[in-house]
Amino acid sequence: MTNWKEKDENYWREKLSAEQFEICREKGTERPFTGEYYTETSPGKYVCACCENTLFESDAKYDSGSGWPSFFAQAEENGIDTETDTSRGMERTEIMCSHCGSHLGHVFPDGPKPTGLRYCVNSLSLKFEPEADESSC
Ligand code: FE
Repeated sequence: MTNWKEKDENYWREKLSAEQFEICREKGTERPFTGEYYTETSPGKYVCACCENTLFESDAKYDSGSGWPSFFAQAEENGIDTETDTSRGMERTEIMCSHCGSHLGHVFPDGPKPTGLRYCVNSLSLKFEPEADESSC
């Protein structure tokens, strides 16, 4: 099994686009209403752009109005790590992929039921895998 946390900076610079590297590995934030997925509503799953760990299901995606992809739950327990982030004069909870440590965004306590959580995620931290269309088989 790949130990993603052992991958060094050079590995990620080669694998990711410059924009993705800045967000995923240097904790950047994409501008709201610019990402690929904030309006995406198709069924499927969202995996980590760096290591393809499953992070979110489309069932838990909703439009928060923030301009970033938003989810009220993570797909699998332990798929996401959290850490307190005090940058920019705010106290927020950063979310990271538990497999590779990639920065995803933040989680806030103002989401909808049933969890009351809002996972606010950069599109560039995600890769969408649409559900297979079984009607065409
Ligand atoms: Fe990952």
